[in-house]
Amino acid sequence: MTQENIQDIKSLTLAQLKEQMQELGEKAFRAKQLYEWMHVKLARSYGEMSNLPKSLKEKCTETFTYTVLEPVKVQESRIDGTKKFLFRLADGNLVESVWMRYKHGNSVCISSQVGCKMGCRFCASTLDGWERNLLPSEMLDQIYAITRLTGERVSNVVVMGTGEPMDNYDNLLIFLRILTDENGLNISQRNITVSTCGIVPKMRKLAEEKLQITLALSLHATTDEKRRKLMPIANQYSLDELMEACAYYFEKTGRRITFEYSLVGGVNDTKEDASELIELAKPLCCHINLIPVNPIKERDYVQSDKTAILAFKNKLEKNGINVTIRREMGRDIDGACGQLRRSHIKKQS
Ligand code: SAH
Repeated sequence: MTQENIQDIKSLTLAQLKEQMQELGEKAFRAKQLYEWMHVKLARSYGEMSNLPKSLKEKCTETFTYTVLEPVKVQESRIDGTKKFLFRLADGNLVESVWMRYKHGNSVCISSQVGCKMGCRFCASTLDGWERNLLPSEMLDQIYAITRLTGERVSNVVVMGTGEPMDNYDNLLIFLRILTDENGLNISQRNITVSTCGIVPKMRKLAEEKLQITLALSLHATTDEKRRKLMPIANQYSLDELMEACAYYFEKTGRRITFEYSLVGGVNDTKEDASELIELAKPLCCHINLIPVNPIKERDYVQSDKTAILAFKNKLEKNGINVTIRREMGRDIDGACGQLRRSHIKKQS
């Protein structure tokens, strides 16, 4: 067997796994058993799969790779119990994921890539560049590992950690299929949010999948000129194109769009910014999430002051826009995207 033929077993859908079992001369029900061990019982190895014959486990070991994440570090917030996990992948790369406890259930924020190539100015995930895409299994593994480590069920998943999910589209879709599969963890599509910096063709493609997931757009600015200063992707797609893609997503899925707007002191938090944001948001069925920017030491962006944040929110509300200020979870534990991984890499080098 050549290296290319070795398949990543946890990235196979149940239908694909059934086909694989057939090819290996195994009965179809073995696929269901294996799938359950991987995606419901969250087994870390074939060794744990106590009701499977040894011969099958040997065949699987020869034929497939089996991904597992090694926890390297866990930080727990003393403020709100948020936990931040740093995991090592099989090839030694590191990813981080965050576990948050809300009234409506536990939420996990996962990474979709090792590093990021999008270059957003305020974000720590992109400072060391992009390494590689995560496999569907490696995205699932973050949720599985956290479920095992906390001993608590995860009910919400947000793809808002390191990386741009739309830049890893095919793997993202497989991940979503397996995560929401009734034979797997069976997480409701409505409890999943995918956040993008705004890769228009992929947003439109996602709309056509007609999933019930929430699409979050990282907007952060209200004119093309301002957005280009914060987010290089804005050089490729204009706000007009972005807003059209958002409307299209709503038209196809009936799901309200979320706009994420990180407030940066003196950069995008003025009255004019609020007025422009109202104009952008009004025609769309959307919800705005205001995030006080989490300053990173590599850049000199500062948070807007509390009164500016409240004034911004009030202005939107007065104009009938649905808006919340994102609670800042885990501020005491390198809460912002990519900070934990980066601080770990720095210490090692
Ligand atoms: N690439 C995707 C998902 C990862 S970033 C995206 O761009 O949406 C998740 C969210 O956190 C994005 O809205 C991003 O702009 C925001 N973000 C990143 N660094 C931040 C910081 N230092 N302070 C506040 N928000 C930040």
